[in-house]
Amino acid sequence: MLYYSTRNHKILRTPSEAIVEGIAPDGGLYLPEQFPAFPMEKLLTLSGIDISVEVLSLLLDDFSKEELKVLVHAAYDNSFENGEIAPIKSVGDHYIMELWHGPTCAFKDVALQLLPHLLTAAAKKCGVRDEICILTATSGDTGSAALSGFSEVEGTRIIVFYPDGGVSPMQKRQMVTCSGKNTAVCAIKGNFDDAQSGVKKIFAEQTPPAGMRFSSANSINIGRLAPQIAYYFTAYRDLVKTGKISFGDRVNFVVPTGNFGDILAGYFAKMMGLPVGMLVSASNENRVLADFFTSGVYDRRREFYLTSSPSMDILISSNLERLIALVCGEEKTERYMKELRENGVYKIEKDDLDTICAEFSAAWVNGEETAETIRTLFEMTGYLADPHTAVGVCAMKKWLAESNKDREANTVVLSTASPYKFTRHVLTALGEQVTEDEFADVKRLEAISGVPIPSSLSALEKATVHHKDVVAIDEMADYVMRKTKEVL
Ligand SMILES: *Cc1c(COP(=O)(O)O)cnc(C)c1O
Repeated sequence: MLYYSTRNHKILRTPSEAIVEGIAPDGGLYLPEQFPAFPMEKLLTLSGIDISVEVLSLLLDDFSKEELKVLVHAAYDNSFENGEIAPIKSVGDHYIMELWHGPTCAFKDVALQLLPHLLTAAAKKCGVRDEICILTATSGDTGSAALSGFSEVEGTRIIVFYPDGGVSPMQKRQMVTCSGKNTAVCAIKGNFDDAQSGVKKIFAEQTPPAGMRFSSANSINIGRLAPQIAYYFTAYRDLVKTGKISFGDRVNFVVPTGNFGDILAGYFAKMMGLPVGMLVSASNENRVLADFFTSGVYDRRREFYLTSSPSMDILISSNLERLIALVCGEEKTERYMKELRENGVYKIEKDDLDTICAEFSAAWVNGEETAETIRTLFEMTGYLADPHTAVGVCAMKKWLAESNKDREANTVVLSTASPYKFTRHVLTALGEQVTEDEFADVKRLEAISGVPIPSSLSALEKATVHHKDVVAIDEMADYVMRKTKEVL
């Protein structure tokens, strides 16, 4: 099977080529030419690992099942607490799928534990012998998950930039304590946008040393999207197996959304035959997507808010381009993306919006509602949600109150981070004081909630700091060139 660029169907790549390249030469994202059917009749007999292998072998069909099995085991054996990648909890009348039992306690681990293995295997397949150097700018979750994934993976090194003072204390500790010899972590004197622009500039202007190539770990890579499809299938399998639904029933999914990668994986699962009802995109005050699904206008020219759910503080949801291309075609996509670049806004046609709204819905939630949701959910059910998950739960309630379609179908909210990753916000929402000592706060939240702290987070308290670099924005390129020359 081949992959084509969302902006030009003539640009075609094998799955491995698409993974190694990341982004198409015309700036488009890669999409599969067909969506292969998942063997639903086998679903109930498959383990979580089997399901990942099955999904990946259908989409990345230049890999054999045997090869993929090795990669999936390397990624997931021993990296998720209790070996569970996506456990489902019954909460009130609905379900919460917890995707944060991996090493950095956010859902990005599911993809980023696997991506390094896929990337190095894909490079071999393409005859690329270069060492792969990952460059990433992060506002928190991506950096720590990428570091954890790439740490000590042979044939790779990774350099992460984060805004000094712009990530949570826990996120910073996760990054600066990373011990991998092939990792570099550097604070920049600037905000996240400065870090992101700096990295883009390095990609455009710097040439890596001979025998090395730069690559990115962000969610535009099809190798990061594909691993996320599997947990929609495991959620469905688990609901059938526990008698919550009958085989064939539709299930809705509510997804806390930033870059539109996670929810798009749900759409891919639907295209591969999973009985998905509605996919509901949940946003915080940065509600560019909620507005788009209502009006068909994508307008990034708006105020940017820093919220209690920072991983969704985003005004350009890159992966939406893939949905636009599937519905509107490449020609319109090319035009819309040019308009977005040049004017910061585009509008899709009414018919296309109707097509999209048959499958997707959206709701947004402000900071007060998020805190209120954390508090009432805990008081009424004992469930402790992080702010991103709370946005999802509150968005579900709003959506159910407004929509008259599909209310009968069961609904699963994706829980994307551990509450302990955002302890201060959670404690504040519960009406508690916070202190300057992150770990004291973490322990207090555990005492109040009775929910155990993930072991990977408690281990950070005594972990050694390995990274102390800080540079100015205009020193980022020099920093990268210096790090690429270090002998590992
Ligand atoms: C990245 C992230 C999201 C958003 O996921 P997208 O795939 O970018 O839409 C939501 N919640 C958390 C905790 C995240 O880290």
